[in-house]
Amino acid sequence: TYAVYQRTKPHVNIGTIGHVDHGKTTLSAAITKRQAEKGMASFLDYGSIDKAPEERKRGITISTAHIEYSTEARHYSHVDCPGHADYIKNMITGAASMDGAIIVVAASDGQMPQTREHLLLARQVGVQRIVVFVNKVDTIDDPEMLELVEMEMRELIGNYGFDSDETPVILGSALCALDGKRPEIGEQKIDELMKAVDDWIPTPERDTDKPFLMSVEDVFSIAGRGTVCSGRVERGVLKRDSEVELIGKGTEVIKTKVTDIETFHKSCEESRAGDNSGLLLRGVRREDLRRGMVIVKPGSVSAHSKFMVSMYVLTKEEGGRHTGFHENYKPQMYIRSADEACALHFPEGTEDAESKMVMPGDNVEMVATLHNPNAIEAGQRVTIREGGRTVATGLVTRIIK
Ligand code: GDP
Ligand code: MG
Repeated sequence: TYAVYQRTKPHVNIGTIGHVDHGKTTLSAAITKRQAEKGMASFLDYGSIDKAPEERKRGITISTAHIEYSTEARHYSHVDCPGHADYIKNMITGAASMDGAIIVVAASDGQMPQTREHLLLARQVGVQRIVVFVNKVDTIDDPEMLELVEMEMRELIGNYGFDSDETPVILGSALCALDGKRPEIGEQKIDELMKAVDDWIPTPERDTDKPFLMSVEDVFSIAGRGTVCSGRVERGVLKRDSEVELIGKGTEVIKTKVTDIETFHKSCEESRAGDNSGLLLRGVRREDLRRGMVIVKPGSVSAHSKFMVSMYVLTKEEGGRHTGFHENYKPQMYIRSADEACALHFPEGTEDAESKMVMPGDNVEMVATLHNPNAIEAGQRVTIREGGRTVATGLVTRIIK
């Protein structure tokens, strides 16, 4: 069988998205088949990707197939979800992150509501580039019809902020590829698709290449030395004696310098993404610091108090509320290590906002207002809780203030 993770190749997370029955799972299987023929995957047939959803336990369980394969250029981890709700949850919670996506659209149907919804969510989770696979071309005899589907897809992706001219659009048949029929629309198109994915979807920036950010979990003072903040480094690399800013919890930005770094109780020169570190801060009093603040590279992040959040509201089986909630709902919002009181409102112009309810199981976009400003960025994931239970998971889609 195919040797797993090859660290010699850059790694990229992708997935198939698009309307139900347009051929996402068939395409996923076809890709593994084609790459297996080249010794770069283990073939997974349709049934082993599209397993019946396992029994759902308490908490958010997302039914997702993780598929793995390589091309000459890169190593891929690929997600395919069984149903629309699983895509929504997956993208909002980030259970399986995507650096890029293959949007599958059946030529026989053209774009459908979930095509649009997945494109929007992909954009919101920070996917910059996608590749379009127009599927089921074996069912269409009229070339003008195919041209029309391609044209409409280019226009649609443009509406969601993707490049409508340059984005590769491949027309083929996943089923032909999987069944080994009509290679000119089957396996050849899988090769074209993988080439397009290799060329068009960029290799993601490594966490260590991003600006430094550590979320403060604990603050303590060490007699004779000063104040230390500990937490997990989310991204970037920090060298000893670097200038940093402390942001969040409603306070002004505090500018200071990290005079010592401890990781695993040992003093060291630097702290990097993934480390649990303690940072000794110069001239900062313990009282000025709190759990939930972030320590960042100066200028890279700022505090906000109002933003749009796209949420998946948990069902009671998932440990969520048994009943819905209204406009001006006031739960706690967890942002990294911070928890903050917040209010949720329907976006301006929502009809009947006063009487409207959000029910368990819903996916909804609302305006969140925090009691105290916090370090927030678009694309960030948050959790909405109330009385010790998780009510919803959310994704910050746009900063307002
Ligand atoms: P998903 O819901 O997007 O994962 O779609 P599936 O992969 O389950 O496919 C839905 C249906 O479309 C299945 O019956 C497939 O056999 C069929 N299908 C998928 N790709 C093609 C194709 O290229 N041509 C034709 N004619 N049918 C296809
Ligand atoms: Mg499927």
